[in-house]
Amino acid sequence: MTNTPSPRDRDSNEQDQFLTILSREDALARFEAALLPRAVPSEQRPLADALGCALAEDVVAPIDVPPFDRSNVDGFAVRSADLASAREASPVRVMLNDEVIACGTAPTRPVLSGTATPIATGGPVPRGADAVIMVEHTQPAGHRAIDIRRAASPGQFVSYAGSDIARGEVLLRAGTVIGSREIGMLAACGIAEATVARRPRVAILSTGDELVQPGHSLRPAAIYDINGAIVTAAITENGGEANFLGAIADDEAQLESAMRDALAGSDMLVLSGGTSKGAGDVSHRIIGRLGKPGIIAHGVALKPGKPLCLAVCDGKPVIILPGFPTSAMFTFHDMIVPVLRRMAGLPPRSDAKVNARVPVRIASELGRTEFVMVSLVEGADGLIAYPTGKGSGAITSFAQADGFLRIDALADQMLAGSETEVTLFTPHVRVPDLVIVGSHCTGLDLVTAPLALAGLTVRSIAVGSLGGLSAAKRGECDLAPIHLFDEKTETYNTPFLADGLELVSGWRRMQGIVFSKGDRRFEGLSAEDAVRAALADPACIMVNRNQGAGTRILIDRLLGGARPDGYWNQPRSHNAVAAAVAQHRADWGVTIAPVAHASDLGFIPFAEEHYDFALVKARKQRPAVQAFLDALASEAGRAALQQAGFRPA
Ligand code: AMP
Ligand code: MG
Repeated sequence: MTNTPSPRDRDSNEQDQFLTILSREDALARFEAALLPRAVPSEQRPLADALGCALAEDVVAPIDVPPFDRSNVDGFAVRSADLASAREASPVRVMLNDEVIACGTAPTRPVLSGTATPIATGGPVPRGADAVIMVEHTQPAGHRAIDIRRAASPGQFVSYAGSDIARGEVLLRAGTVIGSREIGMLAACGIAEATVARRPRVAILSTGDELVQPGHSLRPAAIYDINGAIVTAAITENGGEANFLGAIADDEAQLESAMRDALAGSDMLVLSGGTSKGAGDVSHRIIGRLGKPGIIAHGVALKPGKPLCLAVCDGKPVIILPGFPTSAMFTFHDMIVPVLRRMAGLPPRSDAKVNARVPVRIASELGRTEFVMVSLVEGADGLIAYPTGKGSGAITSFAQADGFLRIDALADQMLAGSETEVTLFTPHVRVPDLVIVGSHCTGLDLVTAPLALAGLTVRSIAVGSLGGLSAAKRGECDLAPIHLFDEKTETYNTPFLADGLELVSGWRRMQGIVFSKGDRRFEGLSAEDAVRAALADPACIMVNRNQGAGTRILIDRLLGGARPDGYWNQPRSHNAVAAAVAQHRADWGVTIAPVAHASDLGFIPFAEEHYDFALVKARKQRPAVQAFLDALASEAGRAALQQAGFRPA
């Protein structure tokens, strides 16, 4: 099975490539086989610019370090044999020679028997002397003489020439990555330039009509180019010389010309987007025309990252990363970084790994190697790894994640309670001081702000109210924010508490109907009347909430069994409801007041939701928990909540 298209049957082959999904291991093996082995070109770099580069050849010491026998202390250069009988009670008197050897002063007079020469730390030991006596063990004895109160062994306080680095010795081996210590060793030998592996020049292009560069304003339906920035940084982090060339529209001719230009001046080309078979996805079609052998793998059994496309054009790797930023990053790190580092002469990455237990079952697609980002918290017996993924389109999962775990292609799930290995994004585990697991609310950030200022780290993991309660019952968090309505008692939260948990009142969030300001179907009505008006107008479209959300219970009550147009549009957040109405994809929905006001929408308040905290009693005395409770009760905390539209309890 080869994946090399020929111009003649390009179209039929493309179909093949897309249907032929290779395993991660197969794809990597083929990609490496097409690229390696390859010579790593080298270049001379001044030391200051060589940081992070790999030495291309062994460095042999051209001189001895130190270059001469050197005194390690301030004192006197002596002949040790003269001082054999020196004691505290019976000092030996010697005459001082007529010179002082400071640092950088070459001695001119020999030390003859019965004499000594004053010498500074770092001064060259003069002819005849074989030891140095510390000034503290001597005292002046009249004109040009001293008494020495200690004997000296030969070589005492002398560093001999070449004792640190000997001329001709291999100082640093080829392949050593240059850090500040290596720069110090090279400087000690007087070496100002190093021959290093030349950083591979990597051109980066983003593709998509919808992309706008950060710093410019967004037009409707556009998004910011995220991949351009992260891929550029990740290439620099892994020894490449990144050259970001911007985002190109989904236009075949324009893209082909940009790709040809980019490739001409580079060792490698990394694109992102346009690799699926969606409308306008054209980059993979161009690759076949750029050089041989062309596409090596298009479609890899990875999740996220299936549409990854790997190619080699006349010896140069050409990669199209999937468009979704998390997919782009995982495939880049897993499949591209190893090749990039080989090209840069760098050793493979050695990411830190830890063992952790997963608290929930993680479903996985059979046949695809799956990467799941996780947040680490400290459980009763070891680390717990919470999946943070919000789907391959989410970028914040990076910020919340400490690392990722891997689910084998042959597994269809990872069971709750499984031990697994987590690859860390940082060199060490950073266990947060305060762990909040449950329903997220923007008010939380206002309350935890002073903790961050006090140097406490706060990790908030959004898993919904019920997920938070389970975590609290297992003792995996300090606090679980919840807003659960009990229909039987018609009260919030308290009925859901279990042993070991206590309720800390948080704040009230006004729920209400959002609509575009000026919409006469809603303006000035009560919630019940507004819904009646909406149901009476067949052109009116609603936006619902997901099953399980507290807000959904309210919506279903308002609708009284009706299923108007838009009912099946069920986003998972308050913000998504506001965005749908603000962008006129829906005419009304239910959200909370602060979110409605932030989007400048009309709002009909009708019910207050209680957002409280289930506190794990066993963790109540922790300093970070106390700091949180203080912040929640503080005047400043309450004022900040009020300012944002919440009502502190
Ligand atoms: P594509 O593979 O081009 O169909 O892209 C898949 C998804 O990723 C679409 O939602 C794109 O808008 C998005 N996407 C593609 N490139 C980028 C980028 N550079 N930054 C952020 N999102 C992107
Ligand atoms: Mg695209």
